[in-house]
Amino acid sequence: MIRKTLSEVASMIKVENDVTAFADRKIAGASINSRNIEKGQLFIPFKGERTDGHRFVEDAINKGAGAALWQKDVPNPPLHLPILIVEDTLIALQELARSYRNELDIKIVGITGSNGKTTTKDMTTNLLSEKYKVQKTEGNYNNHMGMPLTILSLEETTEIAVLEMGMSGRGEIDFLTRLARPDVVIITNIGESHLQDLGSKEGIAEAKLEIINGLQEDGLIIYIGDEPLLHNRLKSYEGPATVKTFGRTRLNDLYPVEIEQLDNGSKFKINLSDTEFILPVLGTHNVLNSLAAIAAALHFNVSFENIKAGLAKVRLTNMRMEILQGLHGEKIINDAYNASPTSTQASIELLANLPGYKKKILVLGDMLELGPEEEKFHFEIGKSICAENIDAVFTYGRLGSFIAEGAKNIFSEEKVFSYGEKQPLIEELKKHVDDETIVLVKASRGMQLEEVVAGLQ
Ligand code: ATP
Ligand code: MG
Repeated sequence: MIRKTLSEVASMIKVENDVTAFADRKIAGASINSRNIEKGQLFIPFKGERTDGHRFVEDAINKGAGAALWQKDVPNPPLHLPILIVEDTLIALQELARSYRNELDIKIVGITGSNGKTTTKDMTTNLLSEKYKVQKTEGNYNNHMGMPLTILSLEETTEIAVLEMGMSGRGEIDFLTRLARPDVVIITNIGESHLQDLGSKEGIAEAKLEIINGLQEDGLIIYIGDEPLLHNRLKSYEGPATVKTFGRTRLNDLYPVEIEQLDNGSKFKINLSDTEFILPVLGTHNVLNSLAAIAAALHFNVSFENIKAGLAKVRLTNMRMEILQGLHGEKIINDAYNASPTSTQASIELLANLPGYKKKILVLGDMLELGPEEEKFHFEIGKSICAENIDAVFTYGRLGSFIAEGAKNIFSEEKVFSYGEKQPLIEELKKHVDDETIVLVKASRGMQLEEVVAGLQ
């Protein structure tokens, strides 16, 4: 993490007060949360709509914070404390991160895409860690606040940092990538998330492609070549960077061969090697995420043996394809972390192809933020479910009911259940499960479908 004296920090951002009285105080790291502030951290308060973080500055410093920022327009700055008065605390955080990043002798991998960013970030970190000292974005700290904080957490001895870059509109990835100046950028896929804000899938692709704007001259672009919206833009790329594609088809630089579904993941090879990889995580979409990670690892000369070892250690964070045990002997795949049409399709395909179960049940809820065509997206998902391999469909929520409507084109009515509340859904679902059943639960975060998972346990 950043380790400086207060006067050094003051020289990295534009500070408006005299800090000489506190010049030698030691600063180690930064935090925006006064509750769990650690010794030496720089506390960064924000003037929020409901609570103003400046109220906690004194408390943070009493608890050991090295210093705090203070936004100029907030009255009564406690000048007897080590505070740095700045025009805007968010911009100061970003400026400090930019300046610190420029000091670091480190390689950076930046990852964006509609789905799979966190997964690919974790996989890439696993593979690179077989050879290097690596740090990554913790959790989902992927925005204009989280990414700068992640940068400030980087140690000087870290060789490679893997950073997730998220967005909800145009210009955001541009900002993040110009701040991080990555050596490798990955675009995992283009889905429909944020359609509401960006208008079209083309708009989403353009927003993700912004990640190239901050790429180092001799850098590497890794993207999913199966996506025409990216491929049409990048196939004739003539910039200074190198370009590598991954995907399902043989037209890509990296593609999987001989994928075998295991009951807890996949076994596969890739076109570039005879090494047999075992990825202990379900879903072909996760094989694709791992290809992006492998492409990044190869760029940093990680051997296939090390890649194999790193892949075997991959575990996904909470509620992403988590396999759990239900009360009636059923298996539950908790994928309730989030959902969009693309990721829901991927999960349905995964369930349909999973070997070893007599009965397969889908529990799907609303996919949010899809814009004016949201009902159609839900209806289409329902219509696309493969009736041969799925035994029943449960939906939850207003938009979920359109999935049910679509599914009724494929399934007989008694196999489709649509609910506006969770408890009756859980009660009905319990009647359908036994020890040869697997249930997949997925919806947007806001729907909190993990409550259905808990109801089965
Ligand atoms: P967020 O925007 O919330 O940060 P993310 O891009 O980091 O999301 P993950 O957290 O890795 O994505 O995965 C979220 C969900 O997306 C997973 O539960 C999975 O169902 C789905 N998913 C992951 N990778 C892919 C992929 N390559 N294609 C389609 N769906 C995917
Ligand atoms: Mg994420």
